[in-house]
Amino acid sequence: MIQAIITAGIIGACLGSFLNVAAHRSIQGRSWYGRERSACESCGHVLGALELIPILSWLIQRGKCRHCGAKISVRYIVVEILCAVLAMTIVYRWGLTWAALIAGIGTCGLVLNSLTDFESGDVFDAFAIAPGIVCLILRLAGGLWAFADGLAGAFAGWGIFAVIIFLSRGGMGWGDAVFMAGIGAVMGLKFTLFAFYAGIMTGGFWVILMMVIGHLHWGRGEAVPLVPFLSIGCFITMIYGPEIFAYLSRRMLSPEIFSLSWPFLATN
Ligand SMILES: [Zn+2]
Repeated sequence: MIQAIITAGIIGACLGSFLNVAAHRSIQGRSWYGRERSACESCGHVLGALELIPILSWLIQRGKCRHCGAKISVRYIVVEILCAVLAMTIVYRWGLTWAALIAGIGTCGLVLNSLTDFESGDVFDAFAIAPGIVCLILRLAGGLWAFADGLAGAFAGWGIFAVIIFLSRGGMGWGDAVFMAGIGAVMGLKFTLFAFYAGIMTGGFWVILMMVIGHLHWGRGEAVPLVPFLSIGCFITMIYGPEIFAYLSRRMLSPEIFSLSWPFLATN
């Protein structure tokens, strides 16, 4: 088990490095697949193998380009460490199961969309829809009901935002709706509904905190990216969903509502 968790950490750090570049280049309208090599943004020095090791390269070079000495954004190491921790958390919680695989693919989508929303306010439809479609197909391994649950999650995630957009007359973008549809297909109906609730609560708490310390001001129309908060809600649900639902079913009258759906079944 410990080997699996360490391996997950290494894969997570590498994926984080890749997702970071994919998000950043997409915003700039550059392609992130194909031949374009990673290079220093200041001097154009093409990075060698030793400069591409996640986390370690940044630490060894102390956040500077080896060639020209320009600063390399702290964002690189932060995202790489974050993704290592997320991957280790998934494998620690779910072991090597369908739930871990599906949560892992979903989390790649969460990280990508959070990065683009955070950097530029854009949500790329493809980054939301691709993990959703992949996980919908994987859901067939759990049977037709598991597949249908994914579809229901997608429609619910999209529907919530469609209603909000309708009621607020365009006060919110369709990017959030597409994002929630994609991750809804990954998580299924119940997890999607709870994740939305958890994400909105986290975002609301953050906004209030920022107003209290004076970083945000009421009525100035300052945009707060929503996807990172929804992502926090989604990740917490994919990890602690069974415990949360077990708790809710003890507190509420109808335990069936909180029973679990494939692949997030284990309560260990
Ligand atoms: Zn350089």
